[in-house]
Amino acid sequence: MFGRVAVSLAALALVSASPTRFAPKAPPVTALLDACQDKDGWADPAPPARIDGQVYYVGTCGITVLLVASAQGHVLLDAGPEEAAPLVLANIRRLGLNPHDVKWLFASHAHFDHVGGLAALQKATGARIAALPDQARELEKGEPFPDDPQFGLIHGFTPIKVDRVLTDGVPFLLGPNRFTAFATPGHTRGSTSWVIRGCGKKVCPAIAYTDSTSAVSAESYRFSDHPAWVAMFRKGVARIATLPCSINVTPHPSQSALFERLAGDAPVADHEQCERYSQQALTKLDERLAKERAAK
Ligand SMILES: [Zn+2]
Repeated sequence: MFGRVAVSLAALALVSASPTRFAPKAPPVTALLDACQDKDGWADPAPPARIDGQVYYVGTCGITVLLVASAQGHVLLDAGPEEAAPLVLANIRRLGLNPHDVKWLFASHAHFDHVGGLAALQKATGARIAALPDQARELEKGEPFPDDPQFGLIHGFTPIKVDRVLTDGVPFLLGPNRFTAFATPGHTRGSTSWVIRGCGKKVCPAIAYTDSTSAVSAESYRFSDHPAWVAMFRKGVARIATLPCSINVTPHPSQSALFERLAGDAPVADHEQCERYSQQALTKLDERLAKERAAK
């Protein structure tokens, strides 16, 4: 008797808890590939596309912005430059979603091409901003710190008040989706890579949103003059190889050949992508250091 009541109560709970059908509508991925065939500008408009599960590309031809959707609210990872903010908002609407349902904004690194649009997106959505401690300081400053290799080379962005400081490696939950921030310093001190589990089920493929790893700098900067930065870079970028990584996505789609993979030239899912991405960056850093030595 008790068993039967328990079963029917459980069934009732199941019915009442079942969410209304949540199904954003993305155009076919070919629309994105066609729009960006010969374009990679930071503000070149691109239609949205579904990457996997509830993870959607809503950026431009040259800059990745990811929307991870759920009936309980959405998360945006990165914003693109300021001039791309209206394009990102239009893409969210094109998926049939309301920008006001974006609850949180996260970022890869605090350079204007990835976070220049954050202030505008925050204003348009009402979302809050969360970041790891070093990135939080960079977002609130609104320009690179003097020890950033690109200090003086790139301009700033509208400073952002960070609402929540996250803890490295501790998952952040929104509805059925999980986001884990990992400090992977190198490109900037606050460089952050994210592991997203956004398929709405208990077990989801890990989408690694791995930060830029390029050793780019202002003209007068020499990495070899900054051994502490180089050591931090090696450690941060090496960490990328250790992240759960079913699908690697990067802040510039070209860094991980995202469009080529979506076009079928290579597998979209490949567990070794993060390892290769990390290794290539470390090789490039060594090449840069060798070049500096040769120029001495
Ligand atoms: Zn950058």
